[in-house]
Amino acid sequence: MPSDPASKFNNLSAAVPPEEARRYSLSDYGEEREERPALLLHTCCGPCSTAVVERLAERYRITLYFCNSNIDDEEEYRRRLAAQRAFVAAYNGTDAGLASPLALVVAPYAPEAFLASVAGQEDAPEGGARCRICIAGRLEATAAHAAMNGFSVFSTTLSVSPHKDFEGILWLGREIAVRYGLTFLGEDFKARGGFARSVELSKQYGLYRQNFCGCRFSRRDAEARGGRGERAR
Ligand code: SF4
Repeated sequence: MPSDPASKFNNLSAAVPPEEARRYSLSDYGEEREERPALLLHTCCGPCSTAVVERLAERYRITLYFCNSNIDDEEEYRRRLAAQRAFVAAYNGTDAGLASPLALVVAPYAPEAFLASVAGQEDAPEGGARCRICIAGRLEATAAHAAMNGFSVFSTTLSVSPHKDFEGILWLGREIAVRYGLTFLGEDFKARGGFARSVELSKQYGLYRQNFCGCRFSRRDAEARGGRGERAR
């Protein structure tokens, strides 16, 4: 098993799963939809998932994996999860969704494990060491779930954000993919207007859009920069 710092984030044995946490068998993912590969897509939030789903739906059968123990606090976590659920429900009522419904799996929420994984990096700038650990942890948890549940391809919505370094995500995704025997779908989803499209679709679906990345340190930094609304994501 991995020995890097992010592995601490994946030690979820002590975590209490939220009510929403579920385990699925392969049949829960819809084996009848065999014409396209099954993709386990880590989703950081409802807004970011909108444009990525739109871009990938014709190429993959998508299961969203909401795995975000970085989010502070639990109220904010539940707010983002509610927005994610709202998007899935609305999308599955559209023509595209009726043709190929989205599935959503919610990972256990383990904020203490996340905080332990980034200990010592609390003051690192966004995009630095703390974020590499955070992103690696979420990607690795996604890869583990994919490997245990019959997916061969995984990816993440994180690259939609203009604040996320695509090359860094790609490097981490590929390194993890090799260890789990999976394929990492590495696309810069902010390219070709992806971020603007996510903003547009979020408004269209009436989704809550947060103004800080997720952890308590990013909230602190956002407030220091000028408070709510400065960096809508
Ligand atoms: S700023 Fe965002 S990516 Fe970086 S550690 Fe915090 S939640 Fe994770």
